[in-house]
Amino acid sequence: MSRSVLVTGGNRGIGLAIAQAFADAGDNVAVTYRSGEPPAGFLAVRCDITDAEQVEQAYKEIEEKQGPVEVLVANAGVTKDQLLMRMTEEDFTSVLDTNLTGTFRVVKRANRAMLRARKGRVVLISSVVGLVGSAGQANYAASKAGLVGFARSLARELGSRNITFNVVAPGFVDTDMTKVLTDEQRAGIVGQVPLGRYAQPAEIAAAVRFLASDDAAYITGAVIPVDGGLGMGH
Ligand code: NDP
Repeated sequence: MSRSVLVTGGNRGIGLAIAQAFADAGDNVAVTYRSGEPPAGFLAVRCDITDAEQVEQAYKEIEEKQGPVEVLVANAGVTKDQLLMRMTEEDFTSVLDTNLTGTFRVVKRANRAMLRARKGRVVLISSVVGLVGSAGQANYAASKAGLVGFARSLARELGSRNITFNVVAPGFVDTDMTKVLTDEQRAGIVGQVPLGRYAQPAEIAAAVRFLASDDAAYITGAVIPVDGGLGMGH
């Protein structure tokens, strides 16, 4: 049976691959996009997740056109890398506001309908960096680590309502976010990855789709690494 799925930041990169994977499986998929052109083939809703009013409007439109969200994938995220001594308060708070508080906004709004339906699936896109740390990414790593505590708290709070909360922690994935790295930086990273390569966005999407499937009904509060072995041990 097709479900109502929402993927934030579904206009490019990992989010687009996730949206495509659900659509290929026959689900009805809405995506949010913040800038640029809406992607074809989905119910595309413009929404900046740092703005609570835009989040509310996006949900209203999705509920009207596609029905209440049954599967939420909170994927939208940003980086603003800087060494600590040069990191401004704005560098820190803006990344937290998108990656962590933005996720809070979309998850909270999704739960209204999930509570009513007494079922729901929420998957948050964190990062290996949130678990092992990364020099120059203290803001980003803190935001991504925060998602783990957030998901696990909600797994406890809402498990009795049959809503699962899981986290996918990708390693390095071939998207715009990692295109900014130099060849030297890329080679350095790949050298640390046991599988010796970057992930393709579809490989992250496969794990997300599994967590939203019936086969994953008894999995909640889990952190699933999809990182080629980079973060082994967390
Ligand atoms: P991209 O930079 O390619 O895409 C980021 C997406 O997030 C875009 O759709 C962007 O919208 C959206 N977005 C950013 N800020 C906001 C906002 N304030 N409101 C709404 N949407 C926003 O990134 P990736 O596809 O690589 O990353 C997707 C997720 O995966 C992120 O959370 C990232 O942290 C995580 N991740 C990525 C890894 C990688 O190696 N690429 C590794 C581990 C985790 P717009 O197009 O309008 O800018």
